[in-house]
Order: sequence, then structure tokens, then C-alpha cells
Amino acid sequence: MHRSIHSSRRCLLARRALLARLRAFLFCLLGLMPALAQAAPIKVVATVPALASLARDIGGDRVEVTSLSLATQDPHFVDARPSLALALNRADLLLAVGLELELGWLPTLLTGARNPRVQVGGPGYVDCSMAAMLRGVITGPIDRAHGDVHAGGNPHYLFDPHNALRVGKLIAERLSAIDPEGSAIYAANERAFAESLNRRVADWQARLKPLKGRPIIAYHSSWLYLAEWIGLREVAFIEPRPGIAPTPSHVARVIATGRAEGVRAILQETFYADSTSRLIADKLGAKLLRLDGGPNTRRGESYADHMERVVAALIEAMAPAVQSSKEARP
Ligand SMILES: [Zn+2]
Repeated sequence: MHRSIHSSRRCLLARRALLARLRAFLFCLLGLMPALAQAAPIKVVATVPALASLARDIGGDRVEVTSLSLATQDPHFVDARPSLALALNRADLLLAVGLELELGWLPTLLTGARNPRVQVGGPGYVDCSMAAMLRGVITGPIDRAHGDVHAGGNPHYLFDPHNALRVGKLIAERLSAIDPEGSAIYAANERAFAESLNRRVADWQARLKPLKGRPIIAYHSSWLYLAEWIGLREVAFIEPRPGIAPTPSHVARVIATGRAEGVRAILQETFYADSTSRLIADKLGAKLLRLDGGPNTRRGESYADHMERVVAALIEAMAPAVQSSKEARP
């Protein structure tokens, strides 16, 4: 009994001390509030890791960036999980690839997000294809026989670093519009990003020169921009039409074309099944390059780091063939 009265009094004293400390803490916190509100980062959500990386480069410390998909995930088909809708609910800026790439999943997430800032047409919605130089634009009627094509243009435009430069500019503009206080920082970051990427591009182009005019086979039409930039010839696709699985007769045609053209490399993203590609590579004695669709931002890889990986893989697979064909010449 005595013990319990004693301990309850001690408990009361302790509680009073705690309350006093809590009051002091809250007082400090209130004093800090305006500063904290200013320092709150701009929440950027990108649909793919390449855009997330560009946003990090341009936004620097002023932004907090989330990617809705991983580099190892097919960006045409992303599982619209509630956690992704939650990220969009809190977003100040949404960076989308556009050209219907995200048509199968982003509209569902945007409905679930209930955030007017980032809805299509809202101040925080950015269709990055607006800044890109587009290829594969289809004029005239299209139907399902074309497969899963995007009439407005091929959406895999970030595989040309010149498009990354253009999109970087757009991101800086849109960040400045929603966060004018940071506009000088965004402009400076964008200049630094462009200078650095331009240097990388010059280096890549010099190293890739021997590959110009060489034939490749691609699984999906993901490499159009890369091929056009480097000067590779896409002589066949393993998908008979974009998004449509290969048939035996189509595979036989791809092998015949590959043989006739002397194809040394087959390109596909890691998220596509590779049994057919492997079979074709074996028949041709070609190398199968399974590449991530974008930077592995979870490992801290940047857009430029990923492009370096792609460039290095291409050179490793194809440059010896270029050399030997040169040596074979009289
Ligand atoms: Zn596609």
C-alpha cells in the first residue's frame, strides 16, 4: 500500500517534468514552423525511372522523387497498387512519358489519387513527350492489326540522350512554375546536367562510331531511338507486331533475315521472356543483350550511368565483329 502511494507520487512528478519538457519542445517546434514549411521538398512522381533520374538531377535538394515503376518492370503494364495511388495523392508534380505508354495503368491510379494538381491538364501534370523529338508517328488510319502501337509516336524516346536533354529543360521549366523561389537553382542544375550529359554523348558517339550501319534484331520496338541515334539498322523484330507474341513462322523469318544480314546482336529488355530470343541468338551465333529499360534508381544509378551500360554492352557485343569484318577485307 505504502509502496504504491509512493510510486504514484513519483509517477506524478515524473509526468509533470515530462509535460514541461513537451511544452518546451512544442514551443521550439512552433518557432521553427515557417522555416520547416519553406524547406518541405517538392514531391515529384515519375512514371518511369529514367524520368525520376532526370528530376533528381534537375531538382536537386529541393525535390523528393518517387518512380511508379522499376527499371526491371514493363512500363506498358504496371500493377496499379494502392501505394502508388498514395504517392500520386501527395504529389506536386507528375512526370509522364505520354504517347499512351501508361494508358493501361496511370488513369486508374490518377482516379484513385484524388489529387487535382496532377490530373491531366492540372498545373502539376507534365507529359514529357511534348518536349521530345518523336519518331514512329503514324499518319492515316490504324487498327488492332498494327498491334499495340502508339499512333502519336514511339514512346521509347528516352533512349536518345538528345531527348533526355530536351526533357531536362522541360522539367526545369515546370519545377520553376510550381516553385518560383527555386527557379535559379533549377536553371543552374539544368545547365550542369546538360553540360555533363553533352560531354558523355560526345564520348559515346566517338566509341559507337564503328557500329554505324550494323544490323540488329530487337524484341520490341523499344530501341528505335537508340538505333536512329547510333545509326544501327533494325532489320527484324521478334514480336511480329508491338505487344504481340512471336509465332513459329515469324521466328523462322526473323532467323532467315538475321542470317542474310549477318546480325551479331539481339536487343531486349530484361522484363520480356527470353526463350525465343535465346533460340534465335543460338541459331545466328549472335549475342543476346538483355538490358534494363532504364536506370536502376534504387541502386542510385543515374540516367547517364544506365546509358553508359547500354553503350558498353553494345560495343562489347558488336565491336569485335566490326573489327574482324574489317580485317577480312583485302
Ligand atoms: Zn512500347
